[in-house]
Amino acid sequence: MTTTESVPGVTEVRHLIGGDWAAASDGATFETRDPHDGSLLGTVPRGTADDGEAAITAARTAFDDGPWPRMSPKERAKILHAVADKVDEHREELALIETRDGGKSINQSLHAEIPRVAHNLRFFADYVSMAANEAYPDGDLLSYVLYPPAGVVSAISPWNAPLMLATWKIAPALAFGNTTVLKPAPQTPLTAHRFAQLALEAGLPEGVLNVVHGFGGEAVAGPLTADPRVDRITFTGSSATGVRILQAAAVNHTPVSAEMGGKSANIVFDDADLDVAVPMAIRAIFGGNGQVCLSGSRLLVQNSIMDEFLDRFTEEAKKLTVGDPKDPSNFLGPLIEQRHLEKVHGYVELAQEEGGKVVTGGSRLTDDARAKGFYYPPTVITGLTNDSRTAREEIFGPVETVLGFDTEDEALRIANDSPYGLAGILFTDNLNRAHRMAARWKAGTVWINTFFERDLRLPFGGEGSSGLGREGGQYSREFFTEPRAVTIRL
Ligand code: NAD
Repeated sequence: MTTTESVPGVTEVRHLIGGDWAAASDGATFETRDPHDGSLLGTVPRGTADDGEAAITAARTAFDDGPWPRMSPKERAKILHAVADKVDEHREELALIETRDGGKSINQSLHAEIPRVAHNLRFFADYVSMAANEAYPDGDLLSYVLYPPAGVVSAISPWNAPLMLATWKIAPALAFGNTTVLKPAPQTPLTAHRFAQLALEAGLPEGVLNVVHGFGGEAVAGPLTADPRVDRITFTGSSATGVRILQAAAVNHTPVSAEMGGKSANIVFDDADLDVAVPMAIRAIFGGNGQVCLSGSRLLVQNSIMDEFLDRFTEEAKKLTVGDPKDPSNFLGPLIEQRHLEKVHGYVELAQEEGGKVVTGGSRLTDDARAKGFYYPPTVITGLTNDSRTAREEIFGPVETVLGFDTEDEALRIANDSPYGLAGILFTDNLNRAHRMAARWKAGTVWINTFFERDLRLPFGGEGSSGLGREGGQYSREFFTEPRAVTIRL
């Protein structure tokens, strides 16, 4: 199958519960449609609370009685590598499904996100089998640390990088010996369904990965956050949902790792190499259709270069191609759904009420080729202050708010003046300044003269409304295991 062909037919998605493919307990379904043209891609079980409970039972049984937690890390790694091999073999198919279901450009699905799915699996498979354990000899005492799996893990994921983010949770949870219940976002259920099929084919034992579909809160996701048989909840999504999940989890004091929204500052100093900073700043806000938690959505430009930078940035933004995401020549595809498009456009209208000026973009694209899709152009807004709602709230679309600053202190004060604290991006040739600012930045990740590089050994997460806890390498081990201190008198 080439990347521009359509996925044939309509997928009949099923829950995967303990190795069985199941409809919703009451038979209800919902549809998933292509945001490019509205065509029907799949019918999906509208999961009930009973379905969520059944999936937890299956995961619990597989954890308490099954082979998975008792396998050696190397045995688990072998199976996870086999799953990664399947993902590699089906890369084109998975990328096309992802692009059709979520509107992400095929280049990104094919060359970045689906390869990262396989990398997530391989990285954690190898990490667990190779990670060092501490031992503390102290006279006639010897102490060491065990990392037994935590148990049953609920993984709740968003629509903006569906399988990449689902496996960012599933891969470490499984590698450390847990069993899992995954609930993908209802907007983008298809790759999780296909992935579950491939994982079973690759030899993952039944009940180790369960997948239920549907909506949050009272329905299928209810038990995933509130059932006392769940030992960990790993969530990626909006800050508002994160708060609800934290509240539900508190009843059973279930540990939660929450990766939530962002409103990250991208700071450009006048000593930056603009040949690097301009294209990176473009990618940082318009990549992934602007629907990226890490987006540099507050662009802070030193006033001494504001005119030159803004001219170049706006010119590049205007050149970006917006259209069918299956066509590799397009940079941006459609937004995920009508409701989200209305939210994004609502912020552009709000920006103007707040005194902002739309320099480019600012209204839905409705020509023949794009009329059926949720297309919104790269949009650049100037003239606002950091106090405006536009600059403070997460828009999650291709909308850049450009602010000016004069000094390093002022730039950092504006950057840190946000309820969020996910990422910081900085362009400067002054490395002393770069280190100074990284140390004072309220952000889980700081990128200097680059953007979006991810080494999975590093902690990933955010401060404030951006999240709770960190995942990645040893940080995932802390979360997905129950570290145990053992002391022996020799
Ligand atoms: P969302 O919060 O609406 O939904 C995320 C998931 O939570 C979905 O699967 C949804 O069905 C489920 N859900 C909703 N209510 C629930 C409840 N009460 N209990 C349990 N589950 C519930 O988020 P979204 O719109 O899918 O994703 C976009 C958001 O995700 C943005 O805010 C973005 O910044 C954030 N995000 C963060 C990161 C990160 O790593 N920090 C990465 C990607 C996206």
